[in-house]
Amino acid sequence: MEGACLSKFRAEQILTWVYAKGATRYEEMTNIPKVIREQFDLAFPLHAPSIVTKQESVDGSRKYLLEYHDGTQVETVGLPSSDGRLSVCCSSQAGCAMGCVFCATGRNGLTRNLAPGEIVDQVLAVQDDFGTRVTNVVVMGQGEPFANYDAVMAALRIMNHPKLLNIGARHITVSTCGLVDGIERFTRESEQFTLAVSLHAARQEVRDRIMPTMANQRLGTLRQALDRYAGATGRRFSFEYALMEGVNDSEEDLDALITYCRRLLCHVNLIPLNEVEGSSFKPVSHQLMASWRDSLEAAGIPASVRRSRGADLAGACGQLAAQTK
Ligand code: SF4
Repeated sequence: MEGACLSKFRAEQILTWVYAKGATRYEEMTNIPKVIREQFDLAFPLHAPSIVTKQESVDGSRKYLLEYHDGTQVETVGLPSSDGRLSVCCSSQAGCAMGCVFCATGRNGLTRNLAPGEIVDQVLAVQDDFGTRVTNVVVMGQGEPFANYDAVMAALRIMNHPKLLNIGARHITVSTCGLVDGIERFTRESEQFTLAVSLHAARQEVRDRIMPTMANQRLGTLRQALDRYAGATGRRFSFEYALMEGVNDSEEDLDALITYCRRLLCHVNLIPLNEVEGSSFKPVSHQLMASWRDSLEAAGIPASVRRSRGADLAGACGQLAAQTK
C-alpha cells in the first residue's frame, strides 16, 4: 500500500477524479500508477449508487430512489428551473429518527446515517441524469442533517470545493428541525452555507405534538440559538412552516409566529403540506396561506408561499418514504 496513509496529493487526485471528472472506477484514473489503483480498489472500493426507480413530474422535477452497495435506499429529488438552475434536494440519513407525525419518512424510523460520499453521490446521480451541472443543493430530504453533523459537513465541503463540485456555499442549504447543538456548531463554521429551520409551530404545545422528538427543547432556547447564529454570521436564516388544517393554522398560531419572528433576522417560508396516503393531516387553502404571508409581511417579517414541486410524484417534502420497501 502507498505509505501508511493516503497522502494529501493522492487524496486530492482521487477526489478530483470522482467529484470533478465523474469517475466511478479506479481504472479510469489514468494519472495514478496502475499498481496503486489496484491497491485502492481493494482497500477503498468505489460504490456509485444505482437508480432503482425514477419518476418525472409534470413540472419537470425528477424523484429518484437510489440504492447503495449494502441495499440501503434513499430518495433524492432533482428540480430544474426555467432559468437554467438545477437544484437537488438530498437526504442526510436513510430514514429518520425524528418522528414528525405529519411526515412519511418519520413513520419508518432511522435505518442508518449516510457517509459523506453517499450524500455527494446523490448530487452526482442527479447531475448525470439531467446532463447538466447542479447549481443548488438543499439538505432537506430524508433525515435530520444535524443528527449526522460531521458527515453532512464533509459532504457540503466536497460540494463547495472549487476543484470538486464548485457549488457556491450560499447555494447550499441545510434544513434542520432545530437541534440547538447543531445550530451552535454550524454558527462557528467558516463557510457561508445557509440555514433553514423546520418550525411548523410557534406554540410550544402544538410543536410538541407534531414534532414529539423535539419536545424536550424549548422554543425560547431555539430562538436564542438562532439569534446568536444571525448575530455571529450576519446571515438571514429561514423558517419552514407547513400549514396543516386544524393543527397549526389558527389566528393564535399566526400571532405566536409573528411574536416569535419579531426582531429575528429571518424569512418565513410557508409550505403547502403534501398529503400523505393514510395520513389525517390536510393542507390549508391557498387563500389562507396568502393571508398568513400578508399578515407576516405587514408585521415586518419577510415571508413567502413556497410552490410545492413534484407533488404529483409523492416526491415533495414529507412524502419521501421508500415506497418499494
Ligand atoms: S420532517 Fe424531516 S426531521 Fe421530521 S421526520 Fe420527516 S425527515 Fe425527519
